[in-house]
Amino acid sequence: MVFDNRNEDEIKMIADMVTAVYDTDASIEVLNAIAEEGVSIKLVTSNGDLLFESGQDERGEYPWGEDISAIFEKGRIVSSGKQGTLGIKTYYCTCVAGNGNIIRIAMDSNIASRVISGVLPAIISMGIMILIISVLLSKLLTKALVDPIVAMADDLDNIEKRVPYPELKPFADSIVESQKQTRENERIRQEFTANVSHELKTPLTSISGYAEMIENGMARHEDIQEFAGKIHNESGRLIQLIHDIIKLSELEEPEEVLFEEVDLFGVAEDTVHLLSFNAASAGITIQAIGNRQMVQGNRSMLEELVYNLCDNGIRYNCIGGSVTVKVFDLKNHPAIEVSDTGIGIPKEHLGRIFERFYRADKSRSKATGGTGLGLAIVKHIAIRHFAEIKVESNVGIGTKITVVFPATK
Ligand code: ADP
Repeated sequence: MVFDNRNEDEIKMIADMVTAVYDTDASIEVLNAIAEEGVSIKLVTSNGDLLFESGQDERGEYPWGEDISAIFEKGRIVSSGKQGTLGIKTYYCTCVAGNGNIIRIAMDSNIASRVISGVLPAIISMGIMILIISVLLSKLLTKALVDPIVAMADDLDNIEKRVPYPELKPFADSIVESQKQTRENERIRQEFTANVSHELKTPLTSISGYAEMIENGMARHEDIQEFAGKIHNESGRLIQLIHDIIKLSELEEPEEVLFEEVDLFGVAEDTVHLLSFNAASAGITIQAIGNRQMVQGNRSMLEELVYNLCDNGIRYNCIGGSVTVKVFDLKNHPAIEVSDTGIGIPKEHLGRIFERFYRADKSRSKATGGTGLGLAIVKHIAIRHFAEIKVESNVGIGTKITVVFPATK
């Protein structure tokens, strides 16, 4: 019984080897060479047409007693039987080759080991050859594929002209886009640094000048109070400028900020209350109207946004004018609108007022302590809240800035 098992294992192994060799090189010569080692081989198509017969197999026609569908189901069928007067046991193994043909091996029990040792070296050397060829081919192919990509990476400035495969076009486009973005960011950064230096220099020069006059005794006694007032004003302007710069850089941080349910009307009322003294001093009335509108947002950022809009409404207004903060529902979108009866913004400036340090009315901005950053902060806060800003303005009539928040469910 143990002997039987061994022979069955061996014929299975031989059948697998023959099928593997036939799968690699489906030629009759290969089968002939193996048959010379004492194995009977028969090759038929799945329809039963005979393709090859090694001549020694006298053991019946296809399907050799096996049901053809069973061969396809099992992939391999092993059987055995006694033949001839000597009663030598013969083992059969039927397999399906990769191309769908059927290979049947028949082999007497006494030659299995001989066949294995005869065919094995050929299979091993063929395997090694295939391995070497595949490694070489894969190296060559990889080099041919990668070289143009390396060349493209070495010349990123001209990447558009160096795209080796159309499949890489979207990749190259995104690099070009990011290069443009980097250059633009660099330009903005340089411009910002130059502007900040300029904005800091003006009040500092003034502070230093007044302080020097007092120090050298050049200021008359009666001027000292006025000079101190100017120093105080200029330092206030510096503090405000630094506050705005810090705020802007915080807003540009990609860090997540805490969002909560915020009532826009509550924010409007608080801001009106906070600015009522400033407004009264400027001869302006300020009021909040509308109703409760809940948004998902950061309360202190929203307060800053409304404060900046109202502060502008007061500073760019005329004595006797008014500022109105209206909170309402705009087609299911919570919205806040700050309108004033002030000087208005000329059309040609409207597209740029949200840029840093852009001033439509330079003298009024400076005279009222403006930093040129208020609306840039408003824009960043709106972006953070996925809100949209609309501006309407008429010179001499007033300005209306509306911030529309995402729809509530
Ligand atoms: P600033 O600190 O100079 O006020 P902002 O960024 O807040 O800077 O505003 C940019 C410019 O837009 C201002 O300098 C001003 O010319 C113009 N502006 C902003 N709000 C108003 C407004 N309500 N009425 C008229 N002009 C305004």
